[in-house]
Amino acid sequence: MGWLNKKPDDQVEQNLIPAVLVSTLNSLDRESIIVNTSGKVLFATEKIQLLNLINEGKISSEELLALVRVVRRTGQTQEGSIEVARGPIGSGKRELQITAALISPDGLVLVIIDDEGEKQRIDAIRRDFITNISHELKTPIQALSLNSDALLEIKNEPERVVAFANKIKLQTTRLNDLVREIINLSKLQDSDPLDMADQVDITDVIKEAINQCEAMAEIRKIEVELGEMSDCAVVGNREQLVMAVHNLVENAINYSADGTHVSVSTRVEDNIVEILVKDQGIGIVEENLDRIFERFYRVDPARSRATGGTGLGLSIVKHVCKNHGGEVKVWSSLGVGSTFAIRLPIVKEKVEQ
Ligand code: ADP
Repeated sequence: MGWLNKKPDDQVEQNLIPAVLVSTLNSLDRESIIVNTSGKVLFATEKIQLLNLINEGKISSEELLALVRVVRRTGQTQEGSIEVARGPIGSGKRELQITAALISPDGLVLVIIDDEGEKQRIDAIRRDFITNISHELKTPIQALSLNSDALLEIKNEPERVVAFANKIKLQTTRLNDLVREIINLSKLQDSDPLDMADQVDITDVIKEAINQCEAMAEIRKIEVELGEMSDCAVVGNREQLVMAVHNLVENAINYSADGTHVSVSTRVEDNIVEILVKDQGIGIVEENLDRIFERFYRVDPARSRATGGTGLGLSIVKHVCKNHGGEVKVWSSLGVGSTFAIRLPIVKEKVEQ
């Protein structure tokens, strides 16, 4: 279902929009807007709210407004593509194909919006990703192949057989982790969480992510504490958000000494929730702070491998944040610890009664 602006001033103009047009637009699998000469939106399909095109009943995208003006000036249907921010923060963008046409002599313009550009962007990311992973997979597969050949050669020396079998087991586990993370990342690149439009409770997400890391924290005698929490919800995909917080908590444990503390807390400011994961770990030198979010980048590849790292965890976090119209930030001091912050636009803050 779409919505119609309910202000009395707009009522007269709304009567100009035939009911059959409204029901047709609502039945299309594309989003649409009808806008009057003063930029007021008289009709919009429901999902339009997720596209960041309208603010307080008016079109907020300068690019879209410019296109609408050309339609009105020339009377000609216009086609073009525009870029809109995914949220109030972060660099996540969405490319939209627009068709705009004049539908009444009083200057009402119909705008039809298509996500085709977004699909092309996702295809390009996927192609680049495949090149990247084939390189990463080659190394462990080659090692497995060499070790199994060696195993055949020493089959009559039981002690060496055990040592090689253990090596192969470790490499298989690593390969398994890598494939799992690759699948996670490619799923992220294929789907758009804002299309699902579920409201996800942030405290719930954090509790589940911490639960998933409980066994690992226990082995390392690291206490994962739940700090101050702000009850709020965001629009998106719960599974992806749990995965992002899980990756940060897992890293906080992996890159800290036994017996230290990790804390997870949230705070809300200006309709943005900040999920903070703080550790007392090894820290990261400043020049590496940007690079750690790249796919397969590790500060210390040997340490990452030893803890079962794949080099994909933080790029998954970055992706999830970007897809949800947010961002991820990091502060770190070598030998003191790191704080990672996932920042997301909220849909509502629960107020205590
Ligand atoms: P990995 O699977 O290697 O942990 P990530 O993408 O999760 O891959 O992280 C990339 C790199 O960033 C890690 O290899 C590590 O060097 C560094 N890193 C991530 N989180 C932390 C942290 N909490 N403390 C110190 N270094 C970290």
